[in-house]
Amino acid sequence: MTKRVVLIGHPVAHSLSGAMQQAAFDDQGIDATYELWDRAPIALADTIEELRGDDYLGANVTIPHKERVVPLVDRLTEEAHATGAVNTITKEGKRLVGHNTDVPGFRVALDRLVGKQKMPRHAVVLGAGGGARAVVYGLITEGFQRVVVFNRHLHRAEGLVKHFGRSASHMELRAMPWHESIIEAELAKTKVLVNATSIGLADDQTPVPGELIPPELLVLDLIYSRTRFLRDAEAAGCTVSDGEQMLLHQGAAAFTLWTGKPAPLELMQRKLKEARAGGVRSAEGEPAGDASAATEGAPTRAGAPE
Ligand code: NDP
Repeated sequence: MTKRVVLIGHPVAHSLSGAMQQAAFDDQGIDATYELWDRAPIALADTIEELRGDDYLGANVTIPHKERVVPLVDRLTEEAHATGAVNTITKEGKRLVGHNTDVPGFRVALDRLVGKQKMPRHAVVLGAGGGARAVVYGLITEGFQRVVVFNRHLHRAEGLVKHFGRSASHMELRAMPWHESIIEAELAKTKVLVNATSIGLADDQTPVPGELIPPELLVLDLIYSRTRFLRDAEAAGCTVSDGEQMLLHQGAAAFTLWTGKPAPLELMQRKLKEARAGGVRSAEGEPAGDASAATEGAPTRAGAPE
């Protein structure tokens, strides 16, 4: 029986995950399809129940469902529990297990960015959404001693800090208001700067004016694109990296969880690059015209015409 893996999001059309996962199944001789399911929040609980059927290997979960899925699965891994977000579901018989492979994906991205240098201990994170939660948990467990989170809506950053209260009890995790003078002061004290906002995803905006970025920072943008933020940071003398490694390695970890096999990393990376060349920038997938039209429709196989 052909097995099914589904990406559940809203919207999910043109997903980068679809490009790399189907190619990986085919390459490894795994008889499985990777399908894109655009499901509105109201349909989420029924959608998750459907995964208990024998033909499903598991799922990816993306915006806006990563947090809502948490109470709908039977068991959470440590990373899913700690972040309060699930991006991958596997099966134990009919039971559903929630994982967060964004965390190991971020760790690989951070390691590559730091390279041979000593792992820094101070970081500034811009954003407080699901991506930021994986980043902050990755930094806490990597041994960072001071992490400052800036967010447009301060209460969300405060909620994130509160959420990690216990796991961050040994270090300083702070939420700060989004004011340029405060960001500038914190950037002068840090070594790592991560953009986990979606600013720059759909246009050429940047979260921080280039003149505020000091030289020699290690700068990561979760967006899979050479954003203005990264161009400005590089011009300021920083070492920069985009979201490719995080995206690739969260996908590779999910592939291994579903199949028990090592992921064909080179192939997956090539497929990502092809999708990017085709204009897709979002880890999550972007609407193709009227995204709502697909909501109630039949599942769409990755790569198939909409
Ligand atoms: P969320 O929707 O959960 O969070 C979005 C974040 O961006 C919030 O902090 C939000 O602030 C902020 N934001 C959005 N627009 C603005 C704006 N105009 N001004 C200021 N702040 C803004 O999304 P995710 O956390 O899941 O994703 C964030 C980014 O990270 C996306 O670009 C996504 O593609 C990328 N990502 C990449 C991954 C990878 O593997 N490379 C993995 C996960 C995410 P507020 O709370 O104030 O609204």
